[in-house]
Amino acid sequence: MAKHPCDAIVIACIDFRFQKYIRDFLDTNLKDKTYDYVGFAGSTKNLKTILKQIAISVKLHDVKYVILIHHQECGAYGTASTPKKHAKELHKAKEEILAKYPYLTVDLYFLDLSGAFEKVS
Ligand SMILES: [Zn+2]
Repeated sequence: MAKHPCDAIVIACIDFRFQKYIRDFLDTNLKDKTYDYVGFAGSTKNLKTILKQIAISVKLHDVKYVILIHHQECGAYGTASTPKKHAKELHKAKEEILAKYPYLTVDLYFLDLSGAFEKVS
């Protein structure tokens, strides 16, 4: 099957409150780039499922760049939805992605209710 190369894969939560912020962020930061988009409750919370999506994106679209976005007040995490917990989850996801695909660039972001993106390093 022919490959359809694309630049990136973006993984974020389904929460409707954040979609416009995410779109604006991607319009700015991935301007003129192409990307696959995965919307899943809790973003990387179900890491096994997310890794499958990344595997497909890598295989079919040869992506080189991964953006993982978690957000404040995430219902999928309930009372555990603290910035510290999200940072931990994001790092865990990045580690597992890089273990499988060391050549990928993985950027982590935490999005708050006002729409501000904080880069998690
Ligand atoms: Zn959420």
